[in-house]
Amino acid sequence: MNIDENLSNQLNEDNKDLLPQNILEHSINNIFRKKLVYVCSFGTESAIILHMISEIDRSLPVILLNTNYLFKETIDYKNFLISKFKFSNFKEIFPSTKDLKIKDSKRTLWKENPDLCCNIRKVLPLQKELKKYDAWVSGRKSYHEGERKNLKFFEYINHKIVVNPLAKVNQNFINSYFKKYNLDRHPLYESGYLSVGCTHCTIKTSSVDNPRSGRWADKIKTECGIHYNLKR
Ligand code: SF4
Repeated sequence: MNIDENLSNQLNEDNKDLLPQNILEHSINNIFRKKLVYVCSFGTESAIILHMISEIDRSLPVILLNTNYLFKETIDYKNFLISKFKFSNFKEIFPSTKDLKIKDSKRTLWKENPDLCCNIRKVLPLQKELKKYDAWVSGRKSYHEGERKNLKFFEYINHKIVVNPLAKVNQNFINSYFKKYNLDRHPLYESGYLSVGCTHCTIKTSSVDNPRSGRWADKIKTECGIHYNLKR
């Protein structure tokens, strides 16, 4: 199978009418098999994809990009969900100590150059880990607007296919899914955090219509960069 733009276009055409659960099932069991990984943020809506995967294959690799700046509540939630769903192939990916030493020895890069901070703490570690895979699952949704507005089920980014099972869902789907399966919310959700990233760069959401408004709230930055084409 050639991993390229043609493949993502074809997959979008062939699977455009599938439901999120079926997109995942088809990706895991037929399209990518052992060459697929879920890159999970353990954020406010991550329990949905984890629950879906747990009903398909609990041995699917699941990884967390641990920037060393995650909320304690996110780590607690991660431990809870991995144990609850009994995933057997979970691991945390950390930034390279060499990169941290050279580029962020004072640990102030997050305010001086957040793009570079995200690069060494998220983008580069993910690129390294993805060498083993053809594709990865992301939990992004188009209703989160911004650069996510025209999101499709399948994308071709940095020589990998990104599978976005929740690309077309709305807020009602998210709320109904949590209710239907009695899933636990992120510990910070009830306090008004509708999207949770690093401690330095996350505040409470200011508008329910813009769930990511608490991310890099005082900056023009809206994404960490793991979904960007590195050559752009
Ligand atoms: S979200 Fe903030 S603290 Fe986290 S890696 Fe990016 S810039 Fe650094």
